[in-house]
Amino acid sequence: MKSLNSLDLSHRYQASLEETESLCAKTLHELKTQKIPPNPIHYTLFYEWLAEIDSSFSATIAETLEPKNYDDTSAQILFNMLWSQILGQSLQVETTSEILDDLLNAFDHWLQRHNQQYKTLNEKTETLTQLDTKNDILEHLQKEVLPLIKTYQNESLQLNQQIKQSRDQIKHLQKELAKATSLAKTDELTNIPNRRGFNEDIQTLITHANTHQQSFCLLLIDIDLFKNINDQFGHLIGDSIIRYLARLLKNQIKGQDVVARIGGEEFAIALPGTSYSNALKVANSIRTKIAEKPLQAKNNLHPIQLTVSIGVAIYQLNEPFEKTFDRADRCLYQAKETGRNRTIGEDAL
Ligand code: GH3
Ligand code: MG
Ligand code: MG
Repeated sequence: MKSLNSLDLSHRYQASLEETESLCAKTLHELKTQKIPPNPIHYTLFYEWLAEIDSSFSATIAETLEPKNYDDTSAQILFNMLWSQILGQSLQVETTSEILDDLLNAFDHWLQRHNQQYKTLNEKTETLTQLDTKNDILEHLQKEVLPLIKTYQNESLQLNQQIKQSRDQIKHLQKELAKATSLAKTDELTNIPNRRGFNEDIQTLITHANTHQQSFCLLLIDIDLFKNINDQFGHLIGDSIIRYLARLLKNQIKGQDVVARIGGEEFAIALPGTSYSNALKVANSIRTKIAEKPLQAKNNLHPIQLTVSIGVAIYQLNEPFEKTFDRADRCLYQAKETGRNRTIGEDAL
């Protein structure tokens, strides 16, 4: 494995001096406005967000930065997410490219030697035809031709071993790379897809929907007054509630359905091949299941009454997905405005 020192982040932060200085000023100004200390974690996240280095990651930060969603806990989660992405990407790429370099050098070396030896071998076999006596031929074969063939064999064997070794290393890296790629798309806390994973899954659903003229529905689910739950029961219990909800949502879906954690206490579900009226039913069934079961936290006398609000929209074929998302988001907002613990579908907009 490579050491941290060899991480090349120059591509990620490649803006010019002026641009970087201006971004730095903007970052500090924004942190000051939001009364957040400019420590390395907050500074990095705000810089990443304002510089829009990675649009998907910036969107995740923006989502968390919505009033009061951003705090030390959510910042730490985002920061870990950022680093696991960066480490996952750059380490693998560097190591892979080194192995490929080694392999190419070995090929080049072998090719040069092979050409040389092939030429010499031709010359030596040519000489054979000019020899008259059996003894001369035998001597020539023993002294000149056979050693050359031996060297040739040895070098082929060496190359063979090098290829085998490199192949094993590349296979191992491929596995690691697949792991890192899947990690970058998975939410650490709940093990379900994060926003990045969700965006990818949605692209697949959109392509399928437009090709087969069969739409899908989107549910946006947000925990009600979660800040109060955190304040009352603490962040650790807050975290386990998020995990519990992720498990519950996962159990409510089937087949090609997608569930993801797209923000701190916000989830999304996509239901391909489900009608709008059925999606409303699914949403309501999820909502009541959650509301009907107060949670008993360890060491707490009082059960926690958890509720969620849900917005539902249907993807109109060929529309940009942002439009669907925006309709579901407006429904969610309306559900919050009209008292929470309710489902609002886009027909009510
Ligand atoms: P509303 O009903 O309007 O959605 O109210 P709310 O309190 O749920 O919404 P608000 O946006 O004011 O606050 C969301 C809270 O969610 C704030 C933040 O601390 C918390 N949160 C976000 N991510 C996490 C997390 O990973 N773990 C914990 N424990 N809390 C989180
Ligand atoms: Mg909420
Ligand atoms: Mg929210």
